[in-house]
Amino acid sequence: MHINRERLLDRFLQYVKIGTTANPNTQDYPSSRGQWLLGELLVKQLRSMGIEDAEQDVHGLVWGTVPATCPGPVPTILLNAHLDTSPEAPGDHCKPEVIEPYSGGDIPLANGDKIELAHSPELASLVGKTLVVTDGKTLLGADDKAGVASIMEVANYLIERPNIPHGPIRILFTCDEEIGRGTRHFDLSKAGAIAGYTLDGGASGTIDVETFSADLATIKFYGHNTHPSVGKGKMVNAIKAASLFVASLPIDRLSPETTCNREGFLHPYVFHGSVSEASVQVLLRDFDTAKLADHADLLRQLAEDMQQGDKRLRIEIHIEEQYRNLGDKLREFPLAADLAEQAFRKLGRTSKRDAIRGGSDGSLMSHLGLPTPNLSVGQYNIHSTKEFACLDEMVQAVEHAVVLAELWAQQGRF
Ligand SMILES: [Zn+2]
Repeated sequence: MHINRERLLDRFLQYVKIGTTANPNTQDYPSSRGQWLLGELLVKQLRSMGIEDAEQDVHGLVWGTVPATCPGPVPTILLNAHLDTSPEAPGDHCKPEVIEPYSGGDIPLANGDKIELAHSPELASLVGKTLVVTDGKTLLGADDKAGVASIMEVANYLIERPNIPHGPIRILFTCDEEIGRGTRHFDLSKAGAIAGYTLDGGASGTIDVETFSADLATIKFYGHNTHPSVGKGKMVNAIKAASLFVASLPIDRLSPETTCNREGFLHPYVFHGSVSEASVQVLLRDFDTAKLADHADLLRQLAEDMQQGDKRLRIEIHIEEQYRNLGDKLREFPLAADLAEQAFRKLGRTSKRDAIRGGSDGSLMSHLGLPTPNLSVGQYNIHSTKEFACLDEMVQAVEHAVVLAELWAQQGRF
């Protein structure tokens, strides 16, 4: 299979130069103008490939279809990537630099910083490959423009080769995934697909088949304020109560700092307070969805104990659902991950199934009715100015998606 790596790289470099940082401080959708601009460009490029139904909808989502090349009822699959980049690092004025080939060791960046091998051990297996880095002042945005560029190349490759048999391939570029709004305007019937794949992962050969299940707990503390001069016996300080509560959470277990692999946690991450009122937000995470209730019970027990200690204090706990383990749905429709695995085998590559210690748009799409595992696309050190991408792994992702499309046409008939 000959993937046009120059064209793939050109597109990737073009996309990362358009700043699309998601902005959590606005309710606009999408949350940044760059996402509109990148979306417009993608529609133009899809149309010039011959994808006539390419459109940017009223919410900024980009849709298009690579038409089927084989007759009869063949299942439709969907490929997805997100247009926005993380607000955790600056994203505007990205200056990508191509390292061709990477010869090993630390990678010096233009601003004097460096990507250290010691902190990025994956580099050891990427010697001889083509990498893309920034000047150290911004993130690269390979999360998820590596996915966007790879999907564009899949479309282009298949359009140029109508002799490759495949069913309809829906393309969907979503907005504001990084701030949890990626599926806000996802339309299942418009997708019209039997399975989906997010191309939003790291090292080659990984199929993410599980995510955390997630709830958000908001704990409110109501105290009593007086002038400090006359506080004796009257004042109840909500800040102190909230602080004691946070301090009473487990420290040596059930925290992000002390867990890994399949262990869940409770993670206090937002704290607001005054003497009369304070609130703490705690993320509850576990692969086992049922365990979220245990984590919530622990919070309730701690709150109960505190209130017993000072009856004047009032504590309220509110729990809201955020997302559920992708694996809960993929187990009901194993073909989505099975064919991804088969496609790797057909390419003579090893693959592994993995679990994301976080969420993905795929977990939300799966629970809306579209089973959607996540595939690797060569992103590394995401959400950071030391982010880098591996072009060779983007090429591999394109090859994998092409074979996957063929496999669905051969085996996915219902
Ligand atoms: Zn991403």
